[in-house]
Amino acid sequence: MIEIKNLNKYYINGEMKLHALKNINFSIEKGEFVAIMGSSGSGKSTMMNILGCLDHTFDGTYILDKIDISKLKDEELSKIRNQKIGFVFQSFNLLSKLSALENVELPLVYAAVHHKERADKAKEVLEKVGLSDRLNHKPNELSGGQRQRVAIARALVNEPAIILADEPTGNLDSTSEKEIMELFKELNNQGKTIIIVTHEPEVGKSCKRVIRFKDGEIIEDVRNL
Ligand code: ADP
Ligand code: ADP
Repeated sequence: MIEIKNLNKYYINGEMKLHALKNINFSIEKGEFVAIMGSSGSGKSTMMNILGCLDHTFDGTYILDKIDISKLKDEELSKIRNQKIGFVFQSFNLLSKLSALENVELPLVYAAVHHKERADKAKEVLEKVGLSDRLNHKPNELSGGQRQRVAIARALVNEPAIILADEPTGNLDSTSEKEIMELFKELNNQGKTIIIVTHEPEVGKSCKRVIRFKDGEIIEDVRNL
């Protein structure tokens, strides 16, 4: 599903050239559940931006679902991003004036899916994340854990090839964190490919594989038992 080969990323600011990712190689198969870990400044966000098709200014190869990302133009990149990637963020990024249902419908509005079908599909994924009794609640009427469930439902609604989550439990108490990790585990058991960027050891332990970065290099790539 994902193949990264001899990938290098440089940030250039005037005379300064920072080697942020150094000869990165790994692949991720369909149905894997992976944590990308490492301390601050180790290159996690840079790797995430590349995996999420937000940045294609790197050297080397990134193949996603047989598509060579490094060769795409900007418009093609955003199209692939919308089709293939479901994003989940630390701060949920929900629209406060919209209900849970409307937030989850949004990606389908952009994809020009018909009204009736949109609502049906959004209800279906909200049910999947355990929120069928909260369809008409606004974000501020929901707990942190519930907000993150809405955000996960929104990420799922387009049926993306991968779910990419950036510190998804960073704003949650430990009970909600466990619940959200359980939900990711369930989705993974149903075949979803999930990649979580985190610096929380407990979150890493809940994933099936950990890829650890340090100073722009992969220093560990292990499967949890
Ligand atoms: P992490 O997410 O693990 O904290 P980052 O990927 O954000 O690490 O950063 C990796 C390295 O690249 C750091 O040294 C950081 O300062 C640098 N970096 C990140 N983004 C930029 C940028 N836009 N311009 C210049 N340097 C950057
Ligand atoms: P995270 O909390 O995910 O590790 P960071 O704090 O590393 O994120 O980075 C936050 C944002 O700032 C990112 O978009 C990153 O590209 C940018 N950034 C990080 N380091 C630098 C830097 N040295 N110069 C410019 N931008 C940077």
